[in-house]
Amino acid sequence: MNKFQSVRGFNDVLPPDTALWQHLHAVAARTFASYGYGEIRLPLVEHTALFARSIGEVTDIVEKEMFTFKDREGDSLTLRPEGTAGTVRAGLEHGLLHNQQQRLWYAGPMFRHERPQAGRYRQFHQLGVEAFGMAGPDIDLEVIALSARLMRSLGIGGLTLELNSLGSAQTRTAYRAALVEFLERYESSLDADSRRRLRSNPLRVLDSKDPQTQEILREAPTLLDALDDASRAHFDGLRQGLEDLGIAYTINPRLVRGLDYYSRTVFEWTTDRLGAQATVCAGGRYDGLVEQLGGAPTPAVGWASGVERLILLMKAQGLTAPDPAPHVYLCALGEAAQRQAQRLAERLRDALPWLRLAVNAGGGKLAAQLKRADRSGAALALILGEAELAAASIQVKSLRAAHREARESTPEQQQAVPLAELPQRLSGLLEAEHLMRNHP
Ligand code: ATP
Ligand code: MG
Repeated sequence: MNKFQSVRGFNDVLPPDTALWQHLHAVAARTFASYGYGEIRLPLVEHTALFARSIGEVTDIVEKEMFTFKDREGDSLTLRPEGTAGTVRAGLEHGLLHNQQQRLWYAGPMFRHERPQAGRYRQFHQLGVEAFGMAGPDIDLEVIALSARLMRSLGIGGLTLELNSLGSAQTRTAYRAALVEFLERYESSLDADSRRRLRSNPLRVLDSKDPQTQEILREAPTLLDALDDASRAHFDGLRQGLEDLGIAYTINPRLVRGLDYYSRTVFEWTTDRLGAQATVCAGGRYDGLVEQLGGAPTPAVGWASGVERLILLMKAQGLTAPDPAPHVYLCALGEAAQRQAQRLAERLRDALPWLRLAVNAGGGKLAAQLKRADRSGAALALILGEAELAAASIQVKSLRAAHREARESTPEQQQAVPLAELPQRLSGLLEAEHLMRNHP
């Protein structure tokens, strides 16, 4: 019998990678919360028309990348290729967008029928934020600063922030005409996709990855030269904000997003370490979308980041998930001490929510318990015996080499600590050994 294999472009994530994924999601959730963003969880399936209407008919996604199918009632449904359309749909459906400000984030799988390669899959994962109801450059700055902090908190370095402005719809109409006029002069030298887009969606030509088309585009008029005054002021405001926060950026006048609904600010975080899959985070302002989907005009800005690409980068940069080993292993000798140990462990977890504490189970002599403690990777063993019970104290024993070498400064490798002081002493000891670095 043939062995089953996963569907092309649909991947399993296995340990130890899952630890890195968990770490990434934990850091992201913390970062989103630290800017006041609330999580929205959306279905994986939406009506096909939602994506056709929002993303635009003449885009790679809608033209050739969607997983679309008819359900048993004959309705056309699509596995979501991105998160913004669903977020706006849900926002309108539940009244989250009207006359209010809203800061949201999401995470989860997206589906696009593309040619699978490193950093490009058919099921991939995104983290994203969307901020609604704010029109000024301050919120553009906020979502970019958030993305910068996320990359920093993950330890990812070497990224470039590329920035551009698409101006208003009117700017683009005027610019589109100038661009078409320019490109028509070179029509026969353009790649086939670009020739087709010249008629249907000329701005997308700027996105072409064809080298000859790229060469021609060097001389093309740019959107930035065509900006209207209000868009120019918005762009200048954002640039000033980035400078105030010390976030370096480069202006890329050819940066356009693949999706139709953007206006004004567009940006990408790019890397030179992932070949053609260079963009790890992309976003911008999409003031027209909410209205396009049936809501009142609502300014909006957001971004989405590809999790697989972030993970690839983290691995390339030697970044690992924090050590999942327990900080502390609790040994107990004798029945009375074992019962007491369970209560003590719960009290410690109450007092030190970040603490990773393993409690010895299955009894055993002290030597056997300490062996398990060593194997667990814990830095400290706690030993509760009858003498300690009687004295309301506990033995704290260092297990790691680092602790043992530090004996000069902290004379005893093992010391009795009164139970009442234990949480405080553990904090001190673990902090001293930099083991608390990664606690939330
Ligand atoms: P690209 O130009 O690489 O195709 P895109 O413009 O289609 O990207 P967006 O729709 O802006 O991408 O999605 C945001 C991010 O999601 C991308 O910057 C990338 O990190 C990630 N991403 C997009 N498509 C894929 C995919 N097929 N596989 C893995 N990650 C992806
Ligand atoms: Mg794409």
